[in-house]
Amino acid sequence: MRFAKFVDYLARLEATTKRLEMTAIVAELFKDANEDDIAPIVYITQERLGPAYEPIDFGIGEALAAEALMKATGKGKDEIKKLYKLRGDYGDVAKELLPAEAKKLTVAQVFERLMQIATTSGEGTVATKTDLLADLLKKLSGAEARYVLRIPLGRLRLGIGDPTVMEGLSWSKAGDKSLRPQIERAYNVCSDLGQVARIFKAEGVDALAKIQVKVGNPVRMALAERAKSSEDIVTRLGKCAIEHKFDGFRCQIHKQGDTVRIFSRNLEETTTMFTDIVEGIRKQIQAKTAILEGEALSYDPETGEFHPFQVTMQRKRKYDLENMTVKFPLRLVAFDLLYVDGKDFTGEGYSKRHDKLASIIAPGERVQISQHLVTQDAKEIEKFFMEAITGGLEGIMAKRLDSKYQAGARNFNWIKLKRSYQGHLSDTIDGVVVGFLRGRGQRAKFGIGALLVAVYDQKQDKFGTIAKIGTGFSDEEWVQMR
Ligand code: AMP
Repeated sequence: MRFAKFVDYLARLEATTKRLEMTAIVAELFKDANEDDIAPIVYITQERLGPAYEPIDFGIGEALAAEALMKATGKGKDEIKKLYKLRGDYGDVAKELLPAEAKKLTVAQVFERLMQIATTSGEGTVATKTDLLADLLKKLSGAEARYVLRIPLGRLRLGIGDPTVMEGLSWSKAGDKSLRPQIERAYNVCSDLGQVARIFKAEGVDALAKIQVKVGNPVRMALAERAKSSEDIVTRLGKCAIEHKFDGFRCQIHKQGDTVRIFSRNLEETTTMFTDIVEGIRKQIQAKTAILEGEALSYDPETGEFHPFQVTMQRKRKYDLENMTVKFPLRLVAFDLLYVDGKDFTGEGYSKRHDKLASIIAPGERVQISQHLVTQDAKEIEKFFMEAITGGLEGIMAKRLDSKYQAGARNFNWIKLKRSYQGHLSDTIDGVVVGFLRGRGQRAKFGIGALLVAVYDQKQDKFGTIAKIGTGFSDEEWVQMR
């Protein structure tokens, strides 16, 4: 597909916020695409160059974009800056400055060049990236460049979420949403919509069944519904397993021999942050290959007690990692098993997965199995819950004994009962608007894009800023706010 044609679709998508219309346009686009284009198309519409779990950092900021535009158009810095001030978006500036007639590059070619720009590293990176981007812009029309520039700047903002892509794929072939379940299953297992789209386009919906749990490829995680009380749990599950609910970091761990990778609940890779867990997995997990899940918590090595989340949270940083491992060591409480030594366990019941998981964890400091109580007695559950709360935990998790591991699903196979649900929790925060951020992109015309909010620190008699708030307002309200 010519990139120019793709851009026509993007323009149509940009012009609507109606979900049904978006789905229809996306479906038409997917129908139009061939099997080589479809993965790049899926990634680009979602402002990416690959699946979300493999983030690619373009390393292109506004300064670099402006520089590339200067090179591509021969215009001076002042002119570009002036136009940017007016439009608030380098994509729009590019559209104004570059020729109008459509060019010949295909989606695959543009994608490849963007990839090349993104993966350039080492000495002289900035200059090389600028040159590559300028070179690409020269080969594009204004309308094409408008979108190409927005991608690395993270300003495409089409609002095409995973559900719209999945629904669009189904409509593109079936003319309705009937194929969505197979598409969604495949996506939940491999977390890569580009790959799903390619197989779906090239080989048809039945071929999606061959997408299976694979070590190294994060699986979208199962989530829990909530219950109001212990009785509620028993009514829904009958006899079930009750575990503690630990408040730390959800970890999905992929072990392939000595290679260990860890993914967060959002499927971000956290391996380098949690080196102590990696070490523990190598030492204690008695399997060559495995995918398991658990909660990583900071603990006191003297007493073995777990710390509250505020302490564990200190580990979530990207610098001074070594020191953090010593100061706040982590332990993994393992609670699920998805795969071990060539066998997919996601189709097995909870009890079988839990037993197998327990059997492959050797004793040691870093990894322990999540203990559970099997019961159908609400009083017993209540006691377990109270003990958990008294021990400083967040609550309990109830699990249906025969439930499969349902990737990406939130349902009553897992039920959480948290302290905060009992009675009314008021944890709202009183914030003070102390400033605003000048709007860019769509909001340039409002002269405001987000509010800067602070809370009062009584001890220091100061307002400390805590958040930028950019959602929840209508266009009229933004104007009013300004
Ligand atoms: P919530 O974040 O409140 O929706 O609760 C779900 C989260 O609880 C999961 O994503 C896990 O990170 C965490 N969790 C803590 N203990 C357990 C457990 N025993 N079983 C499953 N999830 C747990």
